[in-house]
Amino acid sequence: MSSALPASRPKIVLLSLGGTIASAPATPGGGSLPTLTATDIVAGAPGAEQVAELVPVSFRQLPSSHLTLVDLVALAREIEDRFADGFDAAVVTQGTDTIEETAFALDLLVADSKAIVVTGAMRGPSILGAEGGANLLAAVRVAASPAARGLGTVVAMNDEVHAARWVQKTHTSNVAAFRSPMTGPIGWLAEEAVRIAVRPVGREPVALGAGAPADIALLAMPLGEDGRLIGRLAEAGYEGAVIEAMGGGHVTPSAAEALERCAATMPVVIASRSGAGETLRRTYGFVGSEIDLAARGVIFAGWLPGPKARLLLSFLMGAGVRDPRAIAAEFERRRELS
Ligand code: ASP
Repeated sequence: MSSALPASRPKIVLLSLGGTIASAPATPGGGSLPTLTATDIVAGAPGAEQVAELVPVSFRQLPSSHLTLVDLVALAREIEDRFADGFDAAVVTQGTDTIEETAFALDLLVADSKAIVVTGAMRGPSILGAEGGANLLAAVRVAASPAARGLGTVVAMNDEVHAARWVQKTHTSNVAAFRSPMTGPIGWLAEEAVRIAVRPVGREPVALGAGAPADIALLAMPLGEDGRLIGRLAEAGYEGAVIEAMGGGHVTPSAAEALERCAATMPVVIASRSGAGETLRRTYGFVGSEIDLAARGVIFAGWLPGPKARLLLSFLMGAGVRDPRAIAAEFERRRELS
């Protein structure tokens, strides 16, 4: 095969973390487990090595629900080291359940303009219609494309390219599970071509340095929730909280009181549970509204959904930004895309 390889190909590190793309049933008819290595995954994507010189690394072999923030920081450091060693780009394969979090964490933690592309699969390699090989080939094509430089981290799934900041998993099983509700995909693949149609603006990495990610709780606020768990966060060891509030940033009157007490002890960030749109600033004046909550000392996530707001808060605090006003300014700068 080597004689057929193009003379000069970009050098790409392929870091596999597990997930469906790396899974096979442990016993015939049994549940799938992430047992495949990075080398196995590359073998399932014929043609990828024509596009780039791939160096497969089995970084973790986990379901993506078992990954930790410490794993993500270690992954970011590994990619930085590989870039320093001369790799041109990185491809990460992992479970789709938390792809948007890994992608956003890398977007925040790796400042380099080299391409980082995350992909996975909705159907395991042993299932009819498995798309992991095609997704990996697409991810390698994107990572190898000069157009992918300077985009920040992107997710390549189902022949679409999504910016880490905007992408969300929106379906539990459909291969078209990934969407960017606020912006749409920034590009796509057609035959061998990679088209980047839109370049995201305003990426703001966080210099975590040797800091450890802070422990941040994420709580959702449905109709009628009085917020009694909010008062337990400090004793449970959390250093900050993200609240997925209703609509543009709304909670019940008793949750508003609990949030005020909590915000006096730790940074509290309000995101929306709606899945798209910004938290509001000046529309509603009822108790528990965005205007009322702002007066109670909370911070607003802007257009970041809860899980991504949690990552940003965790890394900011880990980087030593602990004053709520400084944290609010960091969230605002990113909301403004400036
Ligand atoms: N359902 C998942 C996947 O698509 C499992 C995981 O996230 O690890 O890979």
